Amino acid sequence: MTQARLMDGTALARRIVEDTAKRAADLTERTGVAPCLATVLVGEDPASVTYVRMKQNRCRKAGIESRHVALPAATTNGELVATLRALSDDPAVHGILLQHPVGEHIDERAAFEAIAPEKDVDGVTFASFATMSFGLPGFVSCTPGGIMRLLDEYDVDPAGKRAVVVGRSAILGKPVGMLLLARDATVTYCHSRTRELSAVVREADVVVAAVGRPRLIRGEDVKPGAVVVDAGYNAGNVGDVDFDSAAERASLITPVPGGVGPMTIATLLEQTVDAAARQLGV
Ligand code: NAP
Repeated sequence: MTQARLMDGTALARRIVEDTAKRAADLTERTGVAPCLATVLVGEDPASVTYVRMKQNRCRKAGIESRHVALPAATTNGELVATLRALSDDPAVHGILLQHPVGEHIDERAAFEAIAPEKDVDGVTFASFATMSFGLPGFVSCTPGGIMRLLDEYDVDPAGKRAVVVGRSAILGKPVGMLLLARDATVTYCHSRTRELSAVVREADVVVAAVGRPRLIRGEDVKPGAVVVDAGYNAGNVGDVDFDSAAERASLITPVPGGVGPMTIATLLEQTVDAAARQLGV
């Protein structure tokens, strides 16, 4: 088997962001209003602070305004819900991102549901999950949406293929499986209780690893010619797939970093401009 082709998320994300920046500039010129993303962070978890700052920087470069709401770690559920409802009602805000995780004492689902669906540019509400699952227009979860764009870019049509998604989190595993199903893949979900994970993964034409365990998926688990998407990101820039051995059997594979990661922010920016365009009626 020859070495797999790389699925270059950095290059595709750059093109999406360039296009999004042009659309943002055009929207601002036509309406006098720049698209605006509100970011909400509870507490000061260093990784979350870095992620939010990175998203704000990217917004600025793309001509999207960002409004940051920093809440103390001791914020109550009620206070967070009230903040998100106020942003949902504010016509100057077009998209809302609640940085995850929010802390153990907070009912994350209640917080997500306080985000108006038309501003749910991170695709975390029940409403967004439903439209994703039914293949209807709406906002997708950003990482799953980015994965689908990568597959499209490399002409991987999921229809009729066996897709195995390893991981079933609400923001990643579950929605990417629903997006693949909506595109007519035959989808199997694996998780921490799955028996004989390797044997299940070996059946896959498309593997999506979304676990958070370094190099869990090994080359010998990959069917020759399969497409391997590694959404995992672990300490030391290591994915959930053992890249070197998997690349010897896969036809296409995402690197870590530079595969799925850049697609997440690109999708967030694109959906923020989509939301602004809809709300401003252009
Ligand atoms: P999560 O909420 O911790 O979910 C992990 C999932 O993996 C769970 O469904 C869990 O099963 C399953 N799992 C754990 N150990 C397993 C094992 N040994 N075998 C099979 N399944 C196992 O994580 P997440 O938020 O979805 O993130 C997953 C990974 O993606 C992380 O590395 C994260 O950093 C990365 N990520 C990347 C991006 C990006 O932009 N590139 C965005 C989000 C996340 P149970 O449900 O049974 O517990």
